[in-house]
Amino acid sequence: MYERERLDLVDKLSERGIDDIYVLKAIGEVERHKFVPKAMRHHAYNDVALPIGYSQTISQPYTVAFMTQSLKLKPNAKVLEIGTGSGYQAAILFKMGMQVFSIERQFEIYNHTRKLFDHLGIRVNTKYGDGTIGWDEYAPFDGIIVTAGSPTIPQVFKTQLAAGGRLVIPVGDKVSQTLKIVTKIEDQEFSVQDVPEFSFVPLIGREGWNQK
Ligand code: SAH
Repeated sequence: MYERERLDLVDKLSERGIDDIYVLKAIGEVERHKFVPKAMRHHAYNDVALPIGYSQTISQPYTVAFMTQSLKLKPNAKVLEIGTGSGYQAAILFKMGMQVFSIERQFEIYNHTRKLFDHLGIRVNTKYGDGTIGWDEYAPFDGIIVTAGSPTIPQVFKTQLAAGGRLVIPVGDKVSQTLKIVTKIEDQEFSVQDVPEFSFVPLIGREGWNQK
């Protein structure tokens, strides 16, 4: 279902500058309509964020593609996602052959998406809890992708990153953020690239925004 729409979306993302063929291939394969509420299905292949309930959203396909491409992961890399949400971003990473670890703080969303992964045969290691403290047991990660907007870059993500790894995290206020692409060169040495004008729901937790 929706094959034509999916390929049109791939073309659109490629026109907008996404040039990682593995990312484009994954977008062409993952059925985004299965990650959105039924009533939203007919919008699933538009390049827009959509509501998934509990004031949360499934990120815009361009944003998912851009963040994924920015991680520059090699196949089989270990990647940590903060904010499982609909599961779409995690599914893209899984489809690209990554080992995916994903944390969600909203219990109903966590439960729903865990079941969806099982149903679709998507093997993602999920965890319910506050992702702003990372996932120490499985660190270090080759990539860390934060899919909610943070007031700062929590130090723990830099610590849990492997040398040569990348962290992508939107940093700003609650309305708009700059995407920070942080590369860990060596233990205490990082380089940061800024990409302006993104808009994510807030990252809520000990090292994020401090409210419900
Ligand atoms: N990656 C998701 C985007 C979901 S929106 C997707 O592909 O659909 C961001 C998600 O981050 C929301 O589900 C929200 O509940 C979650 N979130 C916010 N703060 C969090 C935290 N501290 N730890 C884990 N998840 C968090």
